[in-house]
Amino acid sequence: MADGTETESRKLLRRLREEMASEAAGQERLDRITHLIADSIRSEVCSIYLFRDQDTLELCATEGLSPEAVHKTRMRMGEGLVGRVAKSGKVVNTANAPSAKGFRYMPETGEERFSSFLGVPVQRLGETLGVLVVQSREAREFTADEVYALEVVAMVLAEMAELGAFVGEGAALSPLHQQSVQLSGGPAQEGSAEGHVWLHEPRVVVTNPIAEDPHRERERLSDAVEELRVGVDKMLEISQGGDKEQLQVLEAYRMFANSKGWMRRMEEDIALGLSAEAAVEKEQSQARARMGQVTDPYLRERLADLDDLSNRLLRILTGQGGTNGKDLPPDPILIARNIGPGDLLEYGRSLKGIVLEEGSVGSHATIVARALAIPLVVHVGRITTEALNGDHILVDGDNGVVHLRPEDTVVTAFRDKVAMHAKAQERYASIRETPTVTQDGARISLVMNAGLMADLPSLGTSGAEGVGLFRTELQFLVRNQMPKRSELVMQYQRVLDAAGDKRVVFRTLDIGSDKVLPYMKHVDEPNPALGWRAIRVGLDKRGVMRMQLQALLRAANGRPLTIMFPFVAQADEFREARWEVNKTIEREKKLGHVLPEKLEVGAMLETPSLGFAPQKFFEEVDFISIGGNDLKQFFFAADRENELVRRRYDTLNVSFLSFIERIVERCEISKTPLSFCGEDAGRPVEALCLAAMGMRTLSMRPASIGPVKSLLLRSNLQDVRKIIADSRHRGEQSVRPAVMDWLRHQV
Ligand code: PEP
Ligand code: MG
Repeated sequence: MADGTETESRKLLRRLREEMASEAAGQERLDRITHLIADSIRSEVCSIYLFRDQDTLELCATEGLSPEAVHKTRMRMGEGLVGRVAKSGKVVNTANAPSAKGFRYMPETGEERFSSFLGVPVQRLGETLGVLVVQSREAREFTADEVYALEVVAMVLAEMAELGAFVGEGAALSPLHQQSVQLSGGPAQEGSAEGHVWLHEPRVVVTNPIAEDPHRERERLSDAVEELRVGVDKMLEISQGGDKEQLQVLEAYRMFANSKGWMRRMEEDIALGLSAEAAVEKEQSQARARMGQVTDPYLRERLADLDDLSNRLLRILTGQGGTNGKDLPPDPILIARNIGPGDLLEYGRSLKGIVLEEGSVGSHATIVARALAIPLVVHVGRITTEALNGDHILVDGDNGVVHLRPEDTVVTAFRDKVAMHAKAQERYASIRETPTVTQDGARISLVMNAGLMADLPSLGTSGAEGVGLFRTELQFLVRNQMPKRSELVMQYQRVLDAAGDKRVVFRTLDIGSDKVLPYMKHVDEPNPALGWRAIRVGLDKRGVMRMQLQALLRAANGRPLTIMFPFVAQADEFREARWEVNKTIEREKKLGHVLPEKLEVGAMLETPSLGFAPQKFFEEVDFISIGGNDLKQFFFAADRENELVRRRYDTLNVSFLSFIERIVERCEISKTPLSFCGEDAGRPVEALCLAAMGMRTLSMRPASIGPVKSLLLRSNLQDVRKIIADSRHRGEQSVRPAVMDWLRHQV
């Protein structure tokens, strides 16, 4: 031994390591381990509970409780003291278990004889795999040292579980990361994909959690930390004079890399017998567990920094490297906790699908995934810890479901669904050139939403009659610095060239809220969706607005041009913006630039207030487009980004449809062209009802045009109007059930 005398915990870890190296089968190993721990900690009981499924813990081995209870005693997450440890991810240490909060008596175990209880979570990288418990008759609280020692043992158990050391009979002991799992999340981009896992940040596998020689491990750790520090300093050097926010992140990295507390805790773990990498991972695991509980966004960011730094350190220590996008598996499905739009664009269309542990439906990455038409599921808990590089995976972007390492029956059903979908696509291709005229003769114009050059080929393939919404901010969002006017001119020119004689509605910069430009000073706002965003920023930062208007005018270079201002909440905002357009035109004229042959300037109606604007406003605008995503969130006061409330209110709610109807009527009076460009325009049933309410232009994702057109061609809007009117008359909250029922019998 390097230290001469061997501490009790090091002795225990050494014996665990021998156990790991032994030939024993999983159950035998677990039994021996409980015996070893009880003996070492001098407690009468040691038990290991592991998850049988996501919600059920099972007693898998025990020393001291009734052996008959093994594989019989089960509890749900949160149930009893063991369930409490698993749910909270926190230690429970009590001298009097029966009187502790949440205690549940399990008669088959014979545990009533034991008064004191210490339970620690068996966690790996924030994922709780089970609970390690020691109990004794004597009514006493376990000491801080004992708790700490048991945490270290739990960490080793987690690593052993990861390495398959407990694999054997019984479902609870089947190998980790080999079972098939179905995980659910939020659908963010429709479509189905089958392929193989590609971890954006591959997990590092620690194969040597326990080490013999603490001196050597301390040295390895300190060398690795030094390498890490040098690396961070180098990154800082390169970034000097560059982007301020990036610098701040790097400064925070440096602070952590130099943190004495971090280093000290890892050294303590090593002294107890952990290897350097296991010590890093233990810290990382605890930071991840904290991340799940911290709500403060600043603290969460810092914990995420620490997590990232730990990953780097683990890569240095284990030599297991980064991905660099080199060896993508066939049909890669990208798995990440989160990903920025820039990184996603780098992968580009090589990806077959994307699954994010965090992410959100309105995030930039989502917008990019949509533009590239890559099926995407967000908010898929545990995916980064469950998935291993190369795993077979099925992504159902329509329903937000992910099948990891699926069973054959699931694969067959999934492939059948994909085949059906392909058939439908063929059907849609056959009506691509057919004008959208309903059975009762209403002509509906179906146009598409776009935001990147990559979207434009869809103009031809989808049958879209034009671009009803070009989100110009995407080109600002995917860059590290403000684009130059000349670059914008070129981009807009390419868009207009690609569109040919089809109309493109350019929406001016819609930043703020969730769309934060990395190079613009970030303003902390309590409610960013209600804050300084879109036209409000444009009117306060005229320079940026003018630059964009100039770029648009120059790109048009004599061709017709359509400009739309986002998030207009009152008439004067539009008037001021239009004044700015006129001023820019005058200036361009003086400079000798060719002016557009025809110019239309419109407003997005995204706040209820604009629906009640003076009638004169409706006469002044050249057109109005309803931004249903935002309008709906303000109409129902339900954050479009918040999964808890996002789906609570139906677009086919009578109140919302009545409001839409009112806008249609007001536009009819002033003969103002009206369109709808929120996500709902691309959902067939919603699109049908919007058309029935009088909407004649619908702008949607290109992939939605086929399904929407197919339904509209078969429908009679007069009939739909009647169904809606009857449902309203009956006082129903939403017309959806009535419309769906009618559709089932009609088409
Ligand atoms: C909308 O709000 O409906 C809209 C189209 O704009 P965005 O989704 O870009 O906010
Ligand atoms: Mg909007």
